[in-house]
Amino acid sequence: MRGLSQRVKGMKPSATVAVNAKALELRRQGVDLVALTAGEPDFDTPEHVKEAARRALAQGKTKYAPPAGIPELREALAEKFRRENSLAIAPDQTIVTVGGKQALFNLFQAILDPGDEVIVLAPYWVSYPEMVRFAGGVPVEVETLPEEGFVPDPERVKRAITARTKALVVNSPNNPTGAVYPREVLEALARLALEHDFYLVSDEIYEHLIYEGEHFSPGQLAPEHTITVNGAAKAFAMTGWRIGYACGPKAVIKAMADVSSQSTTSPDTIAQWATLEALTNQEASRAFIEMAREAYRRRRDLLLKGLSEIGLKAVRPSGAFYVLLDTSPFAEDEVKAAERLLEGGVAVVPGTDFAAFGHVRLSYATSEENLRKALERFARVLQRV
Ligand code: GLU
Repeated sequence: MRGLSQRVKGMKPSATVAVNAKALELRRQGVDLVALTAGEPDFDTPEHVKEAARRALAQGKTKYAPPAGIPELREALAEKFRRENSLAIAPDQTIVTVGGKQALFNLFQAILDPGDEVIVLAPYWVSYPEMVRFAGGVPVEVETLPEEGFVPDPERVKRAITARTKALVVNSPNNPTGAVYPREVLEALARLALEHDFYLVSDEIYEHLIYEGEHFSPGQLAPEHTITVNGAAKAFAMTGWRIGYACGPKAVIKAMADVSSQSTTSPDTIAQWATLEALTNQEASRAFIEMAREAYRRRRDLLLKGLSEIGLKAVRPSGAFYVLLDTSPFAEDEVKAAERLLEGGVAVVPGTDFAAFGHVRLSYATSEENLRKALERFARVLQRV
């Protein structure tokens, strides 16, 4: 058989997706496991959104959509970006994609030439560097530190800028650290994009899941340089519907849509009508988001308190639904620690592919009962070390 491409051979499969699939499989086999792996809300999609999908089906809205999305949803997106993010966006500056992931994937395909550098802030979500490399780019890591709450230092970012810098990826609230970047930091990063003429890729998928602090969209300051990426998955518990979206300069959005036209054609039409309901029925959606946010806040507090009671260390997250746990009490590295925890009945994601060495990522998008069980199991594993 002829071999595989160099490009694909150089690509690591997603650790978050792989570890989650493994946890689901173990549970299917009857293993008693608390899975803190999934970066997905455990709530069901709100009923009004599901009803909109049923309506779309009944009305026969089952055909191809334009590559950038149905016009009704693009109008609603422009309105959402204006209303919630203070971004002056026209409908033709928006695109609907197959999850936030395809928005990012298409974006890197659209803006990167071989050797172009993209600054990623470590610890980072596992897929950024892989997508950059897949598009021929070179990820350049800039550290964020636990002692600084994993908030980036714009001076450190500035030192990483070269003539080849094409983009900087920011993700606030952050996966996997839970950091919410202060407005001044995001403003400073937007100024760097303007001064050095590179794109700012702002992944805002967790914008509604903030427990302390406020969300700020840096695209306000650098509209011609910023691509804002978001999606329905985290806000409306719609991970399986695969609807992401983005806005930015018209030429970039058009190029991203061209990539879709030659790959996926368009995202799922029925899911787009459902997302339109999620974005436009503001009263019902706001109630859902607030309910979910309060549940995550309680779970975060329960988890942090429990961890500190058994002597484990974690930087307090202000947003998203992740905690990075220091694994030094469990094992010499995070991979061994994750194995030990799995043997002890808790599935977690080792920090390795996030560049969060010496840490594992816990997702608290699960019930308080599961979190209590996980804490008991952590304590039991610790006793055995
Ligand atoms: N973003 C989520 C996570 O980090 C979902 C899985 C993925 O696409 O990475 O777990």
